[in-house]
Parts: sequence; structure tokens; C-alpha cells
Amino acid sequence: MDLINTFGELKIRGTQINYYFICKTKLYLFSKNIRLERDSDIVNIGNFIHKNTYKKENKEHIIGSIGIDFIKNKHGTLEIHEVKKSDRMERADTYQLLYYLYYLKNMGINAVGILNYPLKKKIKRIVLTKKNEIELINIIKNINNIIKSNKPIKPERKGYCKKCAYYEFCFS
Ligand code: SF4
Repeated sequence: MDLINTFGELKIRGTQINYYFICKTKLYLFSKNIRLERDSDIVNIGNFIHKNTYKKENKEHIIGSIGIDFIKNKHGTLEIHEVKKSDRMERADTYQLLYYLYYLKNMGINAVGILNYPLKKKIKRIVLTKKNEIELINIIKNINNIIKSNKPIKPERKGYCKKCAYYEFCFS
């Protein structure tokens, strides 16, 4: 699978970058269109928070293969906001947002990222660096290698598996 589609856009979705850090099995299953999140209470709580916070903002901007929660123009700086329920997976959330910044930069749009954890009243400002860009290129290559494989990635139990929408699929 190529990294770039025929329109010159990156094909990877933000969720795939996030799952790359959380669990390669989850990344694989999601990428093969095995979507179990709809039935997950945790995901539904996340959706509820998305819907009921930052109500004044114009939400859900789909740009190519990325979906941005909301966008702000702060004193001439474009802010890309991502809203998360919990900061337990902050590293995964950070790289998801870095990917959005990288994706936009490839379209000639410079922005900064803001991670929002409304339940914790916490925000984190994220700036894309050259080092991040090199990391992201490698992450995208690794993701493509994982998803082009015909063999599913064997599930390995982790502390958060029981909260995962794919738990029954992996361990029943
Ligand atoms: S249940 Fe655990 S191993 Fe299976 S997809 Fe979820 S996090 Fe990965």
C-alpha cells in the first residue's frame, strides 16, 4: 500500500496513528474494517463528551483522511483542536495531533495543535518539529507494513485490554 493516494494526499487516518501507539492488533483490525467501537460504552462516553463540550465551536472538519474536532484562529495562528476523554493515552493522542499538523503542512497549511482533556481541565499545546516529521514518516511506513500483512497481529494482554472495544474479539 502506498503512503500517498493518487491526489497526493497521505492516506493514513488519525485514528490509525493513535492505535499504532495503543495496540498494533487494534490498528490491524481497525484498518481491515473490523469496527467494534460502535458497541463500546467507553467510546460512547467519548462521543458524548465530544458532543457536549466546546458547544460554541464549529465541530468536525473532515479534510482528506483526517477529522479535526474543531479549528480556531487565535491572533492569526491556526489552532487544530483534538478533544479526548482521558489523558491515559497522551502519547498516542500527541502523535495523532502531530500527524494532523504534518498532514496540513503537506497541504501548505501551518498550524499548531491543542489537545483538550475537558474532564481533567487540561490542555496541551503541540508544535510540529523536523524531528517529529521524520518520526511520522517512519510511523506511517510501519503502519503500512502492518496493514498490508495478511496475518493478523496476535493480541497481547495489556492493562487496558478490558476497556477495549475489541476485548471479546481478542480473548473470548
Ligand atoms: S483487547 Fe487488547 S490486544 Fe485486543 S485490540 Fe484491544 S488493546 Fe489490543
